[in-house]
Amino acid sequence: MESFRGIVASGGVALGPARVWRRLVVNPNLGQKTDAPAEEHRRLDLALSETRRQLEELRTQLQDRLGQDHATILDAQLLILDDETFLGQVREAIDDQRLRAEAAFSRAMSEALVPLDLSGDALFRERMTDFRDVEQRVIRALSDHVSTLPTLEEPCILVSSDLTPSETAGLDFEKILGFCIDGGSDTGHTAIIARSLGVPALVGLRRASQEIRHESMLALDGELGVVHSDPDPAVIRRFESRIRRRQGAQRRLAGLQTLPAVTTDGHRIALSANIEVPEEIDIAVRNGAEAIGLVRTEYFYFRHEVLPNEDEQLGEYLDVLRRAQGRSVTFRVLDVGGDKLLAAVGGVREYNPFLGLRGARFLLANPEILRTQLRALYRASVEGPMRLMLPMICDLTEMLAFEDHARRVRESLLEEGHDFDTEVPLGIMIETPAAVAMAEELAARAEFFSLGTNDLTQYVLAVDRSNLRVSRFAQPQHPAVLRAIRDAVRAADRGRIPVASCGDMGSNPVLAMLLIGLGVQGISASAASIPALKEAIRSISFADAQAWAEEATSLSTVEEVDAFLRNKTHGLLREFVSRSKASGGDREPGDEA
Ligand code: PEP
Ligand code: MG
Repeated sequence: MESFRGIVASGGVALGPARVWRRLVVNPNLGQKTDAPAEEHRRLDLALSETRRQLEELRTQLQDRLGQDHATILDAQLLILDDETFLGQVREAIDDQRLRAEAAFSRAMSEALVPLDLSGDALFRERMTDFRDVEQRVIRALSDHVSTLPTLEEPCILVSSDLTPSETAGLDFEKILGFCIDGGSDTGHTAIIARSLGVPALVGLRRASQEIRHESMLALDGELGVVHSDPDPAVIRRFESRIRRRQGAQRRLAGLQTLPAVTTDGHRIALSANIEVPEEIDIAVRNGAEAIGLVRTEYFYFRHEVLPNEDEQLGEYLDVLRRAQGRSVTFRVLDVGGDKLLAAVGGVREYNPFLGLRGARFLLANPEILRTQLRALYRASVEGPMRLMLPMICDLTEMLAFEDHARRVRESLLEEGHDFDTEVPLGIMIETPAAVAMAEELAARAEFFSLGTNDLTQYVLAVDRSNLRVSRFAQPQHPAVLRAIRDAVRAADRGRIPVASCGDMGSNPVLAMLLIGLGVQGISASAASIPALKEAIRSISFADAQAWAEEATSLSTVEEVDAFLRNKTHGLLREFVSRSKASGGDREPGDEA
């Protein structure tokens, strides 16, 4: 038995076979020689025409959906495939050095890129990424690799060095028992999906994906942050018994499904779910969510190689609304950038992506993408109640531009004779310090606020949420974050608009009590956390929650807040804290494997 320690990104326990998945960066095998250069020329020609076909298809799709300007971003890549000087060098390397086509192409590419690399110019460096992309496509075509997504045949624990949002979004969730990731962070996309699915996930496991063998048995402990590979029989028995205890606790919590989320002194909280994929709505509904408080629509986009068109999006949004069965659904328009690079729009690596072209900035710079999405969303509004919100707002200018796009979309839909709800509320996410500072003005315009505590914490505390070296400092209970939340809630109250929270802070029952005490009227959290949250809300009074929030907000350090919460939760909340920590509180003395 070998054990690997990581950071808990999602609680729980799992036992199952490892599916070790490595991203396919195809190695051109530079030294490989050939005795049959004619065969290599033939393979090269086939691969070039396959790559040309792929790029032209992408180009046409981009042109149809976004217009000619966007389509030209692929022109430079297509030109490489027709560049006779460059291809001449590839062919020479095959003939003179007897290299296989992969090696010849890769070598010629590296030589061609030397001047760009040496120039130090940011634009040229960006171009290099385009050229490397062509290189990978050609090499993949040469080796017949088309898909880089993991295929899962049976329930398994997925082990990987890292997963991009699009890879995560493309997984078959039914087959996932847990995640073990070498990199990542506990607020990244894999963590968020794992929490929604209610499966354990460890991140920051460093070299686990190199050292864990494919198909070996894994025992994943999402409380202690450890995964055991080839566990001893005694450890397996302990894990099996923990899994049984968790299932028992889940059955007990399921009894709360139809009860309201109301404090002991009668204060009602709207408990909703965050979702990334439509299937999660079924879990949310089963767990008693009153509404869907956040649909991260970027995950729909991640599942497409190219931008989904209006009708494809319409189909997905209708599916979400149908599954919600009349519950209100808050769709957040596309939030890309940061850790959510969208390959289909030529996502460009930035030095500081979390301070780059993200969220509202990205959409307002790409109005065609926003317009297409708004058209699909409005058209879907015939199916059920919905609200729309814009991420990463910093000021009123962005809010007004968003409103303006929405108004123009409504006008053109009316002209075209489409049915839609003309009064869909438009709100914003409060997740930047600027939005908190401008909350008064924003509340006068927006129809609701939703607090994005993940980003708010990241930007208030200047902690990159996906950087493992610092992500432990991303603590939403820090007094600086609590004070920002307090100010935003006060502004919403003065503007008489509703305010809810939709960040991960709300998935933790203790921190959710702080949010409630600070005055949020709703909490939207991962679907899996809803039963434990409801149990917590039903076990305390609003007056107590308010007193705690006031005290915690007045403290000077996060250590003081932690000590205060530990002290408080020792009594009244002890029960549900221990139960909900892993949505089941399944560990008993001796459970440490
Ligand atoms: C947040 O920032 O808290 C949020 C809900 O948005 P995301 O995690 O998708 O950035
Ligand atoms: Mg956010």
